[in-house]
Amino acid sequence: MMLEKSQLNELHWLMEMLHNIDVGLVVLDREFTIQIFNGFMENHSGLLPTEVKGKLIFDLFTEIPRDWFIRKAESVFLLKNKAFTIWEQRPYLFKFESYRPVTGSADFMYQNTTFIPLLSSTGEVSHLCLIVYDVTDNAVHKQSLKKANEELAILSQTDGLTQLFNRTHWEKCLLAEHKRWGRSKHPSSLVMIDIDHFKNINDSYGHMVGDEVIRHISALIRHHVRETDICGRYGGEEFAILLSDTSLENARIFTERLRKEVSEAIVKYNDIDITYTISIGIAQVDESIESHEVWLECADAALYRSKKTGRNKTSLHPQQVIT
Ligand code: GH3
Ligand code: MG
Ligand code: MG
Repeated sequence: MMLEKSQLNELHWLMEMLHNIDVGLVVLDREFTIQIFNGFMENHSGLLPTEVKGKLIFDLFTEIPRDWFIRKAESVFLLKNKAFTIWEQRPYLFKFESYRPVTGSADFMYQNTTFIPLLSSTGEVSHLCLIVYDVTDNAVHKQSLKKANEELAILSQTDGLTQLFNRTHWEKCLLAEHKRWGRSKHPSSLVMIDIDHFKNINDSYGHMVGDEVIRHISALIRHHVRETDICGRYGGEEFAILLSDTSLENARIFTERLRKEVSEAIVKYNDIDITYTISIGIAQVDESIESHEVWLECADAALYRSKKTGRNKTSLHPQQVIT
């Protein structure tokens, strides 16, 4: 049957449109050799349709995982159903560079790909069409949104002045640690620290200097703790540290080292030299401490004893003062 001139024209236009459309089109036969390769694919791969026709797709695009691709394609041939792969599962099928100025942060083009079975006149699936969508803008946008949300989550847990955990988050950690102890019974100690006569520092030198002292103790705490310890700014000049897997005696060695270093340190602010001291209370969790609130009260009571008995010292729950 001869095609009429108008039908020929339509076919020609259709081919022209497919060649110029802004998605990738590749037709493969059952041996996975390339039969059709449109303009999008040509522009991004730098290969001409005449260069790729009849060639095995895996020889030209070595980035395509052969076994995975064959498994996926075979199911399309067999079931005569479409199949998909999205960038979240596999960032790309064809490794093309990303040229978009808007999405300058991506080195390659993120792609979603659809596998379509092409039926022959006898109803057999003899060929497969790959449709490749450039989803770089979408992927980069989603990734930057995810990063921003993660940063926001960290920010909402952090104290701005000291970069330690804020009280709300730290208390959540305390609750979790108390529960963990309930299951594991590993020793765990809670340290409360309060700067001595901090009001005097503020009154004598101003709040800016007070802030500098708070930053100083925070940096020392961060320097001395292990990665698994959980440090928080509990109040204005009060700090709380959870030392997991640490007995009372080992916690005391830690706090005494910190206390001595603080008492020997000089904080410099312009031409002012400031010295200060800290008082400390420690409580190791045990059967008598039935909640995280009680644990906190015990450490706080020990801290209070350090204050009452002259400051610049560590006290232990229950009832020991070390000077
Ligand atoms: P003590 O030895 O009994 O702990 O005496 P203190 O003066 O340290 O105790 P107090 O709790 O009475 O005073 C704490 C002061 O800390 C009061 C408050 O103005 C100040 N403060 C709280 N937060 C901040 C802060 O972020 N920056 C500065 N500079 N000062 C703060
Ligand atoms: Mg205080
Ligand atoms: Mg104080």
